[in-house]
Amino acid sequence: MRFEIKKRKIKRFEIMRYTIQTLGCKVNQVDSIFVAEALDGLGLQKAALGEPADLCIVNTCTVTARSDTQCRQMIRKAVRENPGARVVVTGCYAEMDPNAVRAIPGVTMVVGSRDKRRIPEMLAGNLNADKVGLEEENGPRRPEDLSAACLRDGRQVTPAQTGGQRGRESSESQRLIQGAGGRSRAFVMVQDGCRAFCAYCIVPQARGPFKSVDAEQVENQVRALIEKGFPEIVLTGIHLGAYGVDRHERRGLQRLILRLIRIPGDFRIRLSSIEPAEVDDELIHLITGEEKLCNHLHIPVQSGDDAILRRMRRPYTTDAFFDLVFRLRARDPEMGIGTDLIVGLPGETGGSFERTCRWIASLPLTHFHIFPYSQRPGTEAYAMDGQVDQAAKKERAARLREICRAMQVKFLSGMKGKTLRAVPTSKPGPANKTLSVLTGNYLSGRLMDPYDLPSGIFSVKVSGISDDKLLVYRVR
Ligand code: SF4
Repeated sequence: MRFEIKKRKIKRFEIMRYTIQTLGCKVNQVDSIFVAEALDGLGLQKAALGEPADLCIVNTCTVTARSDTQCRQMIRKAVRENPGARVVVTGCYAEMDPNAVRAIPGVTMVVGSRDKRRIPEMLAGNLNADKVGLEEENGPRRPEDLSAACLRDGRQVTPAQTGGQRGRESSESQRLIQGAGGRSRAFVMVQDGCRAFCAYCIVPQARGPFKSVDAEQVENQVRALIEKGFPEIVLTGIHLGAYGVDRHERRGLQRLILRLIRIPGDFRIRLSSIEPAEVDDELIHLITGEEKLCNHLHIPVQSGDDAILRRMRRPYTTDAFFDLVFRLRARDPEMGIGTDLIVGLPGETGGSFERTCRWIASLPLTHFHIFPYSQRPGTEAYAMDGQVDQAAKKERAARLREICRAMQVKFLSGMKGKTLRAVPTSKPGPANKTLSVLTGNYLSGRLMDPYDLPSGIFSVKVSGISDDKLLVYRVR
């Protein structure tokens, strides 16, 4: 095969060193791990800290204007600190604004989001050649340009030109991941893309339509990671609750979970963020009843005001969300229930913000991510009337964070004396007197007696709280 030939060619050259830097969500992090493992397989080596690299990959995010700025800074830093290196930029920012990325001096190649897993294949064809013999000219970004790769001089490499299929469908892109990029919990991407088009969100444009990973492939991936000793597997997706929709499967996520919890072994599964309308009775039953599933859900509500939810095009009401959270809480008083909130959507008045504050304080929620609204070109909210000024957004975010922090502390304090199931999130070492752990209900803790640890999941008893962390001892 062509890819194999190129692979052998690369190995004849001096070992090349690479870096991968990642911004944004867990899905991006999984993609970066995948690419890093493929580069390792090609014989490249990860550059040590401070060591100059021959290849720098920057995996970008575009969820807010601030993310774009951080991406540009990261790209410039990669160019500056690695003179002469090939700098490849991919991810959602590269997908949405390839021309801006390509205009940064020193960028060698820009690869669209959906083809990022094929970067090693593309590089296997290009790393050792100055000329790649492509003829297609690159113009301004058009929809059909999405997920192509652009070389520095403006030429494009499409997946077809590198001899492969588009996106995640080539056999190489289905390779199983063997690690977690140095983390103790492994992330498995089961779904990509979104078609919800919430008014404020650029993700559907950046990530494209729903695309579910075949259930057998997911099971093989989970089994491989369990065999490697990972005690916790986190199922991630851009729109996790839509798992299976593109395959016309009903209850796709629920069926996937039922399949995975049948795998033998001492491990647990956690779900990443899931939309409120997609948490049905069956999922509630599973999450609150199955030992192999963490008793934790992150359900983004975004606002506590129905008029704002409608403007956001979120398909639920505050009453429906309220009912959902209390049903979960009634079944499991210790469950971790997190949410996201956006403040300052165009049209959010002082009154609607106050309603959100009062409403959120009435819910038994435990974890919060609060974001000031960021105006993204190409979204419906970008052109809405009633944009809220930056200072007001900042002030509202700070006020809401204060309310939510008090709720978080209350939940943490209520854990004192409880026995919880935990996994380590740091490595034991001779100098470590304590060990970081994470409980099933998503609370961080410090294990005060990290001796003779069993592998896998273990029980801990909460003795106190310090710096927003549980202080825990092993139940022996
Ligand atoms: S569900 Fe809405 S907020 Fe979530 S990724 Fe899709 S469009 Fe964005």
